[in-house]
Amino acid sequence: MNFAANDQVIQVFYLAASALFILALKWMSSPATAERGVRAGEIGMVLAIGGTLLNHGIVDYKWIAIAVVLGTVIGIPLGLVRMTAVPQRTALSHAFGALCVTLVGISDFYLRTPNVPRFTMAVLSLEVILGALTFTGSLMAAGKLQEILPQRPLTYTGQNVVNLSLLAVAIVLAVYLVLHPWATHLFLPMVGIALVFGVLLVIPIGGADMPTVISLLNSYAGLSAAAMGFVLNSKLLIIAGALDGSSGFILSVIMSKAMNRSFTNILFGAFGKVQVTATAGAQAKPVRSATAEEAAAILAAANTVVVVPGYGMAVAQAQHKVRELYDALTRRGVDVRFAIHPVAGRMPGHMNVLLAEANIPYDRLIEMDDINAEFPQTDVALVVGANDVTNPAARTDPASPIYGMPILDVDKARTVMVIKRSMSPGFAGIDNPLYYLEKTLMLFGDAKSFMNDIVHELTDGKSGVVVSGRFVSNGQSPRVAATDFERT
Ligand code: NAP
Repeated sequence: MNFAANDQVIQVFYLAASALFILALKWMSSPATAERGVRAGEIGMVLAIGGTLLNHGIVDYKWIAIAVVLGTVIGIPLGLVRMTAVPQRTALSHAFGALCVTLVGISDFYLRTPNVPRFTMAVLSLEVILGALTFTGSLMAAGKLQEILPQRPLTYTGQNVVNLSLLAVAIVLAVYLVLHPWATHLFLPMVGIALVFGVLLVIPIGGADMPTVISLLNSYAGLSAAAMGFVLNSKLLIIAGALDGSSGFILSVIMSKAMNRSFTNILFGAFGKVQVTATAGAQAKPVRSATAEEAAAILAAANTVVVVPGYGMAVAQAQHKVRELYDALTRRGVDVRFAIHPVAGRMPGHMNVLLAEANIPYDRLIEMDDINAEFPQTDVALVVGANDVTNPAARTDPASPIYGMPILDVDKARTVMVIKRSMSPGFAGIDNPLYYLEKTLMLFGDAKSFMNDIVHELTDGKSGVVVSGRFVSNGQSPRVAATDFERT
């Protein structure tokens, strides 16, 4: 094939890949089409790589083959991590992508220097600064989430000034290089400063905010790839980078809103500090608990049940048991729906993914804004390993660190049942007043095995008996929690 024909084939591959990336994002925005979206993204990536491999500038495929094997050997185990480890896995993917962008940027600089046009130098600087800080920042984020590094924010006086000064120095060097591209000795120090800045940017941020930070770093990685697209004159990279950059940014905004936090607060607020003090005083109040048999009887008597899944369901991998409960209750004529909070679990869409994996019909998954109006008419809200996203203190207690965060109004349901193992706090490290309400029954145990027992009661047991709850944690006498829903 001659050069011109070869180039046309490559452009067709790139065009198809770009279209598939756009469609992938569109389809992934709904659970019903998400699988198709993933396939489209995969095919797009294969076409992008295939097109690149046809490039006539390639003189030897040996190193490329080694890189492909190496990438596959690292990539396959990364794709097989547990669902709960996906945030840190994502951070590692960003780190690899950003390292790649930085290395390409560095080699590009030395290939072109000293005659680098101003525009190219500007985007090249942007590429390596964003790439380098994303590389080290993502490594720090992954380390914190994997608990290799301390999760708590590491802070000292004047930290923000030091960090912003470093960033300012990197920007000044970039501007100087744009004006004097032959000052090559300043290029690597600029990259070095960005690498250090990435570390310093993330260490003052608590583990609690890491998923949002990862999403923001995703956005930076996308922007650096788009900048690389300008340097290499690759429309595909510009499109893919811009999609990545903007979607990462939008996701960070959605997550911040769902937690009622601002970016400034996340990046400079050292959130984890609050958690330690807020946990104090959580114990020693009376709560009522119930057995699986009692819980099954209440559920069987209900007309409407809203299941509220959270991080504990993911940890226990209880989604398939939740599906069995859904089947058992639906067979009995109970209307069962699922309330989805945007930041339930540890990553965006965490609950949707798990419930979809268990084949729960999509139309039964109701977003927070839509389901909240329904709770007052709901007989039973069954909370499965969720905590912070149900905490009424977010509505009522201005002193609470989660004050203002939108929550699922579970406390407005007629009866609340909460499956969790203990009275331990959730991610934000704070007590949950929901557990002490008269209408709340605590179902202490692992979500999967407790669910299993409830399903067993519903399918094999009698599940029609009068229910009694009992006080725990302060030794008071048992008392009756008669639950009587009017059958319609
Ligand atoms: P949560 O507040 O972290 O609470 C999870 C609860 O699950 C815990 O109280 C824990 O209590 C229970 N649990 C753990 N393992 C369990 C098991 N095996 N069986 C039963 N229960 C178990 O979770 P959430 O309500 O889903 O809230 C998510 C939190 O993460 C929010 O604070 C949110 O802001 C934060 N966050 C989420 C994202 C995201 O993208 N989704 C991003 C950043 C931050 P026990 O130990 O007593 O069992």
